[in-house]
Amino acid sequence: MTFNDFNLKKEILQRLQEIGFEKPSPIQEKAIPVILAGRDVVAQAQTGTGKTAAFGLPILNKIKPDEKALIITPTRELAIQVSEEIFRFGKYLGIHTATVYGGSSYNRQIKHIQNSQFIIATPGRLLDLLKSGKIDIAPKYVVLDEADEMLDMGFLDDIKEIFKFVPNDRQTLLFSATMPQPIKELAKTILKEPEFITITKKQVTNENIKEYFYVIDENERKDALIRLLDYKNPQKSIVFCRTKKDVDDIADFLSGAGFDAKGLHGDMEQRRREEVIKGFKSDKIEILVATDVAARGLDVNNVTHVFNYHLPLDPESYVHRIGRTGRAGKEGMAISLVTPHEFRALNRIQKISKIVLKEVPTLEDVKSSEIKKIIEKLSTIEPSEKAIEIVEELQNEYDLLSIATKFAHMLFEKEVDGREKIGKSIKEAKRLIERSKKDSNRGKRYSRNKRGRRR
Ligand code: AMP
Repeated sequence: MTFNDFNLKKEILQRLQEIGFEKPSPIQEKAIPVILAGRDVVAQAQTGTGKTAAFGLPILNKIKPDEKALIITPTRELAIQVSEEIFRFGKYLGIHTATVYGGSSYNRQIKHIQNSQFIIATPGRLLDLLKSGKIDIAPKYVVLDEADEMLDMGFLDDIKEIFKFVPNDRQTLLFSATMPQPIKELAKTILKEPEFITITKKQVTNENIKEYFYVIDENERKDALIRLLDYKNPQKSIVFCRTKKDVDDIADFLSGAGFDAKGLHGDMEQRRREEVIKGFKSDKIEILVATDVAARGLDVNNVTHVFNYHLPLDPESYVHRIGRTGRAGKEGMAISLVTPHEFRALNRIQKISKIVLKEVPTLEDVKSSEIKKIIEKLSTIEPSEKAIEIVEELQNEYDLLSIATKFAHMLFEKEVDGREKIGKSIKEAKRLIERSKKDSNRGKRYSRNKRGRRR
C-alpha cells in the first residue's frame, strides 16, 4: 500500500514524498480511510507509530478554509511537536497552526487562534480561554491525543468541560496508548458510533531483552549501580547517563571501585574517543559509560547489559538505549535505576515496554550468588597438567586448605562491600508509585482550582 491509495490531495502527496514518507504505517493504513469517510475513531496506538499523520493527513485533506480543527494534547511539548508535524505536512496547503498552552501570552495565542485552521492546545489553558469567552471556536474536527496520559495527569474533568463548548456537529477522534475504564467511558460520551482501531504492534522493545527497574533514593544511585554490577557480573555493558559530567564522574567512580570502565562523550578528543570505542569492541574495556549522543552509531554486537543510571525522559530514548543489547538473537538485560522523581518518565516507558520492578540485591545475595557461580564453574573444570604441577609444588609450602583459600582470594580480589540493603522493597516501591499517581492528580486539580479562584 502507498499514500497514493488514499486519494489524498496532490499538495499533500508531494509533501509526503519530499519528507520521505514512502509507506503508510499500520495505524495510518487503518485510520486514514475511516477518518476520510467521516467516521469517529477510537485508536489505540503509541507514540512512534505515526499517529500524528494518521489523524493529521485526513483532516488536512478534508478541512475547508472556514473550518477549524482542535487537537488536545496532555503536554506543551507534545502540543508543539504535533503542531510542527501538521505544519510540515500542510506546507503546500498554506496551513497555519496555533499552539496554545499555559505560561505563554494570552493575547498572542488568541490572535493566532483566530487566524489558524489548526489549534493544538493543552487542556488547562484551552479551558481557561473558552470559559472566559476570550475565544469562540466551533471546531469541525476534534482530536484527543494521548488521552490516557491526560487522564493520568488529572485532566479528565477539564476535557469533559471542554466538550461543553464545542458543537455536536463535529468529527471526533480519540487516540490513546492504553484504554483504561475512564477513557472508555469518556469515549462513549464524546464520540458517535466510533470505529475502534487497535494496532497490535508487537512490543516495541525486543523479546530477547529482560528489562528490570529498581526504585532507590537519589543518594543511592552509585551504591545501587555497584551492587548490581557485582551481582550481575556483566561481561560487557553500557551505562547510560544524561550528562557529560555524569559520564566523567561515574567512569572515574567505577574505575576507582576496580571495574574496567571508561567514559565516552562528545567533549572528548577524537583520538581518545576512538581508542575507547576500540577498547570496548575488543573486550579490553568491560563497561562503557556514555551519553545517548556519544553512543549513537556505536555498533557493538555482544553487549550483555545496558544500565540506565538515570531513566531517559522519553520512551524513544529508552527503546534506543536498551536496543544496544539483545542483538543478533542473543539474550540481553536492561537495568534501570529509578527514583520517585522519575515516576512520570517510568509511567511512559511502562506503556511501551515490559519493564519489571525488582529489588536491589543485598550484600548477602551477592555473596551467595558468587559462591553459587564458583560451584557451577568448578564442576566443569578439568585440571590441566600444568595446574596439577603447580599444586604439587605448592604443597611443599602450604596445606591444601590454605592453597585453595589463597586461590579463591586471587580470583575475587575485588571485595564485595557496601551497605547490606540498598533501595526500596517491592512493596514500598509499589506504594510510592501509587501515591505519586494520586498526588499528581490531586496536585493538578488543586492548582487549577487556585487559578479559578484568582480570576
Ligand atoms: P508519531 O507516532 O506521530 O509521533 O510519529 C513518529 C515518527 O515517525 C515521526 O517522526 C513521524 O514523522 C514519522 N513517521 C510517521 N509516519 C511515517 C511514515 N509513514 N513514514 C515515515 N516516517 C513516518
